[in-house]
Amino acid sequence: FNVPTPVNEPVKSYAPGSPERKELQAMLVELRSKQIDVPMYIGNEEVRTGNTRPMSPPHDHQHILGHFHEGDASHVEQAINAALGAKEAWESLAWEQRAAIFLKAADLISGPYRAKINAATMLGQSKNAMQAEIDAACEFIDFLRFNVKYMCEIYAQQPPVSGNGVWNRLEQRPLEGFVFALTPFNFTAIAGNLPTSAAMMGNTVVWKPAYTQIYSAQVLMEIFKEAGVPDGVINLVYVDGPTAGEVIFKHPDFSGIHFTGSTGVFQHIWKTVGENIKRYKSYPRIVGETGGKDFVLAHKSADAKAVAVGLVRGAFEYQGQKCSAASRAYIPSNLWEDVKKYMLEDLASMKMGGTEDFTNFINAVIDEKSFDKIAKYIENAKSTPGVEIIAGGNYNKSKGYFIEPTVILTQDPMYTTMCEEIFGPVLTIYVYHEEHFETVLDLVDQTSPYALTGAVFSQDRYAIELATQKLRNAAGNFYINDKPTGAVVGQQPFGGARASGTNDKAGSMINLLRWVSPRTIKETF
Ligand code: GLU
Repeated sequence: FNVPTPVNEPVKSYAPGSPERKELQAMLVELRSKQIDVPMYIGNEEVRTGNTRPMSPPHDHQHILGHFHEGDASHVEQAINAALGAKEAWESLAWEQRAAIFLKAADLISGPYRAKINAATMLGQSKNAMQAEIDAACEFIDFLRFNVKYMCEIYAQQPPVSGNGVWNRLEQRPLEGFVFALTPFNFTAIAGNLPTSAAMMGNTVVWKPAYTQIYSAQVLMEIFKEAGVPDGVINLVYVDGPTAGEVIFKHPDFSGIHFTGSTGVFQHIWKTVGENIKRYKSYPRIVGETGGKDFVLAHKSADAKAVAVGLVRGAFEYQGQKCSAASRAYIPSNLWEDVKKYMLEDLASMKMGGTEDFTNFINAVIDEKSFDKIAKYIENAKSTPGVEIIAGGNYNKSKGYFIEPTVILTQDPMYTTMCEEIFGPVLTIYVYHEEHFETVLDLVDQTSPYALTGAVFSQDRYAIELATQKLRNAAGNFYINDKPTGAVVGQQPFGGARASGTNDKAGSMINLLRWVSPRTIKETF
């Protein structure tokens, strides 16, 4: 049973004077000029606790976009009860009906909600127009449409082989209980995908977004409601992590978690789930995408310009706040001067500032905590012998959390910023002797605990083959002659192993199969 493959949503250009640009600019003005009041959505209720917290653009932190109502443990309990209450009706709904709801959500984003979800992502998460477009619009639309395809294929599977007098069936059942979606700030598409992929398969969900993504999360919820997601199927709560975890992970009906976030939090979740394992009806599904320390490795045969472009785009788009961002590079000595020249030229042309000015490429990092952490790495580099800052290095948080794209050069391949995830606009480069490619392959493989993405640049097919073999376990998404970011749904299924996650490839059949528990039925005549 083959459902036709969707076409990836075309990316709009937002060129000066284009209708989409005008519409988006008008929406930015409209959203900036009012303050919204954002409730939690639990069952059929909009819950306002009165305990409100402000939402501000990271690039203009004194401007208030609105307030959200923070909840406590009792709201997590209510959300679980709402999810469990909605379960029977939702899972017995024909899968074709569920497909219709999520396809409609994709169409709503493609059309009437495109400007709103992009503008909310630009203001709330400090993404420029293009970064918002490829995330909140295109990637989320693709997640929805491709996941519907996979969902249909899973539910419409052909029955297994049956012999004379025997009829075997395989019935796909949603998990017994509720699913918890714990979502990050850096992709609106991921925030949308984690609850909807589980819901689509027939599960009901408690969704807790990062506090720094609530502004666009509530637009997603508005879209889900308009598309016809019934009350109680996706319950959106704003509660701090430890409070939510305390209720969720002790609940006997906890059936799985769909997570994107830090490695530390994910490891804590595994431990907590382990400690509570006897409480649950089933072994919970633990699906997560976590950190990265993603590499760019150039071979002496590589095209220097292509390497420079890959580095700058891979490291600095969205201020490096992608799990996939290029953050450590290994450049051969014969290419270094050219790579450096092209890189510095490219960086010099990049403007930094708020997202409302479409000529700004670099915007702010997400919040003060993140700003301070990144600044600390930069300060450390400034005072470490043998380490040099060759671009950027300045930062300022007076209006917004701005950090210049910073390039660090080190002679020590084990220097902290070559090994630790920073999650900001900092790229560290190690220049190796051009004849030591094989040694560097080992370094790349062994100096980071992560294995999310990585890129090799080379025009020598033997070097490409060698790197592909040797770095087999070093990246779940491996790029040849391209930057390590920007995976497209349906084309480069995304996810990594080691400390980077469970590699259940977002937006793929592998992922959707985690949200069902099949029953085999044998009948004899
Ligand atoms: N899928 C995104 C990419 O390929 C990264 C997702 C993430 O940062 O979690 O760039």
